[in-house]
Amino acid sequence: MAKYIFVTGGVTSSLGKGIIAASLAKLLQARGLRVTIQKFDPYINVDPGTLNPYEHGECFVTEDGAETDLDLGHYERFLSIYTSQANNVTTGRIYQTVINKEREGAYLGKTVQVVPHITDEIKRRMLLLGKTGDYDIVISELGGTVGDIESLPFIEAVRQLQWELPEEDVVVVHLTLVPYLRAAKELKTKPTQHSVKMMSETGVHPDIIVCRTEEPLSNDIKRKIALFCNVKQEAVIEAMDAPTIYEVPLAMLREKLDIICMKKLNITNYKEPELEKWKGFLDKLKYPKSKVTIGLIGKYIELQDAYKSILESFIHAGAMNEVKVEVVNVHSEYITGENVAEKLEGLDGLLVAPGFGHRGIEGKIIAVQYAREHALPFFGICLGMQMSVIEYGRNVLGLKDAHSTEMDQLTPNPVINMMEEQKQITMMGGTMRLGSYPCDIKEGTLAHKIYGSLHVNERHRHRYEFNNKYLEQYEKSGMVASGRNPETGLVEIMEIPSHPFFIGVQYHPELKSTVEKPAPLFVSFIDAAKKYNEQKSSRKSSVLQNELN
Ligand code: GLN
Repeated sequence: MAKYIFVTGGVTSSLGKGIIAASLAKLLQARGLRVTIQKFDPYINVDPGTLNPYEHGECFVTEDGAETDLDLGHYERFLSIYTSQANNVTTGRIYQTVINKEREGAYLGKTVQVVPHITDEIKRRMLLLGKTGDYDIVISELGGTVGDIESLPFIEAVRQLQWELPEEDVVVVHLTLVPYLRAAKELKTKPTQHSVKMMSETGVHPDIIVCRTEEPLSNDIKRKIALFCNVKQEAVIEAMDAPTIYEVPLAMLREKLDIICMKKLNITNYKEPELEKWKGFLDKLKYPKSKVTIGLIGKYIELQDAYKSILESFIHAGAMNEVKVEVVNVHSEYITGENVAEKLEGLDGLLVAPGFGHRGIEGKIIAVQYAREHALPFFGICLGMQMSVIEYGRNVLGLKDAHSTEMDQLTPNPVINMMEEQKQITMMGGTMRLGSYPCDIKEGTLAHKIYGSLHVNERHRHRYEFNNKYLEQYEKSGMVASGRNPETGLVEIMEIPSHPFFIGVQYHPELKSTVEKPAPLFVSFIDAAKKYNEQKSSRKSSVLQNELN
């Protein structure tokens, strides 16, 4: 039987509950336990697939095609394990299940209520993964902040489980903020006290309190929190702001968060944590040998969370290449033929990001053209790949009006077209081409070199595709389909062999990049950017040398 850890949050949102949960999971995994994490989100959307990235950041897609919260991305990146639909549950999904059951008559005439029907369904989901026999520990992160109206049923479910399960099978970890008041030069524990009090009033008492803080917690402060919040002093954990999220597992190790959890769970059979790979990655991350600058072209660039997995993939790939990757955001709406050289100046590589809708499209196309014509390493993901196809169609094949039917339904040259099976669909939620699909790679291509394999599986999230009617024309003119779906023939990768590094992929390689297994496409892209940068520097120094001579 699995044991359960619940991670709740108090005082304010954005304290990094997902990172604390993932760090704890990492430590337990490093000690030889089989761990998974799941996230419960209190909003009514059935999943975040229909949410605007400005609202909730990136939508993370799992192998099985679930559109989930971006915290699942952190879980996968930290643990190098796959999550699934079962790992992300929202209030909307809970209600959907209960209402469907009610319509089926499954409640036998009973009045359907929040307690017990909604809470029963929450509990069922909380225990589900633990019942598979695949895990020793299931960590459940509860989204939202204690005290929110919509979080109440989830806290109530945890309260019931605390009673129903054996005491040594449940731990509640509560994350709070201990603010530092600069004027008083003091750390303040009151918000933590209030938050724990509020949670206790609902019947859930935390076993461990993790305190986000800018300053170290003195023993006095820890004692005070322990005293007022009714936990042991060793269970008051300091979580100082860290320079990178990847430091947090080591910080939690120093604070013995894992040991204290295992003590409460009565787990005695564990080993010294195996974190060599992790530490090796951190060393490379902290001491890069050089720097590359990558332009990220997208339309949601004001919000870092909108491209979370891409930014993390750059961190993984940078460490692998021992370079610091500086990502410069370029807003595609402001790129024109006149200013493109100036906008992209100083870049060593260009990534055109995924996206939806027509805003900023022409700027993206102009940027792709610049990268293609100036041998600047180019990497297009999903919409970015589609833009590279449109650009090539217009400027090389001479199809002046080439477009995607997403932007122009009536274009005479729909080089990017909606998939046949998509045309019938009217509902928005969960209806794209989602999740993992196989891709066969053409021998001898850049894609083959990058992956070192002829078969890969990557995750998708889109409705439009390369239109195979144009494939022969493209390949004759120098843009090659180097990856295709073995069953449907859909084009998954396009590349230009005559360019030093120009590749576009219809899928999202960023969703499978982890600390211990960085995505090959990102690693190679950064390597290409590094070479571009070195050549640029040697060009500069030879110009300088010539001038001096
Ligand atoms: N809007 C494009 C499509 O639906 C691209 C989607 C994406 O970039 N994720 O095909």
